[in-house]
Amino acid sequence: MKRSIIIILTLFLIFDASAQNKKFDKILKDIDIVEYVRNVPIGSYNEFWNSVVANNKRMAEFRKAAEKNTTAFQAARKDMGEAQMYVQMAIKSQHTYDLKGITDTLIAHVGANTIWPQLTLDIVADDSPNAYCYPEGQVFITGALLDATKYDFCQLLGVFTHECAHVLLLHHFTSAWAIQKKLITNQAVAASVSAINAMANAYAQANGAADNSSWDSVNRTTVQLANAAYDDAMHRFRYKYARGEEYEADVIAYRFLEWCGYGGESYINALETIAKDDDMYYGKDEDHPKTSDRVALLRYMASTYPMFQ
Ligand SMILES: [Zn+2]
Repeated sequence: MKRSIIIILTLFLIFDASAQNKKFDKILKDIDIVEYVRNVPIGSYNEFWNSVVANNKRMAEFRKAAEKNTTAFQAARKDMGEAQMYVQMAIKSQHTYDLKGITDTLIAHVGANTIWPQLTLDIVADDSPNAYCYPEGQVFITGALLDATKYDFCQLLGVFTHECAHVLLLHHFTSAWAIQKKLITNQAVAASVSAINAMANAYAQANGAADNSSWDSVNRTTVQLANAAYDDAMHRFRYKYARGEEYEADVIAYRFLEWCGYGGESYINALETIAKDDDMYYGKDEDHPKTSDRVALLRYMASTYPMFQ
């Protein structure tokens, strides 16, 4: 009896793990850069970052949208223009420390400025251990993160690389574009909801339902079904975009440290430090992956697809 329970439990765990691995494989197929950077000579930052950008699938789609000048692309460009005004205001109000020794060292070791010359890094006075960036390439690491990592070079390098990945892959712009695409889709879904309602009403009238109440339940069911479809569409689109970009920046940061010969473990340590703050900040926001998911993906990647055998 006991043995059969153990067998069932083991089978359950195996199935659960394989479902998780399949999910990770699917994510990594889209975003892992290992094939493109494995053979780039160490120190060739220009080549490293160029291959990251050139082989990025989302960037390729984004470039196509830009060439076609799609409605969503145009709307996103307008959003970016407006955001830029707030960015300038936000940057002006920030208090930064003069720690050029640290910031210059990190910039030189990430080398992303070889393809994005306007990239800057500043240490900002802030109590939360975190880092963030703005679209034109202004990156900020908080003073609290320096303290929390005990000024660990590899951890800070990993965090800065993560932010550089957001900048170089135009994540602000592609996010704005994804949101606009989603809005257009939602409008289409909303239009079909009202079309279904109109049809139900027309059907009721055509059948001479003098008493509207007899059709109330029909309408209610139709609306419920349409709402469920709408929620499902919203959920899928949100999942796809926001998580993808965060995972992507994580994978690039991990791979960068591996490529440098430092190993990616330091990045996971830094992520766990930041993530306590991040999880609190995002709360139950479905858009943002949980830290435990992000760490699990990196650990799976490291053990299944190591950069060097
Ligand atoms: Zn990020």
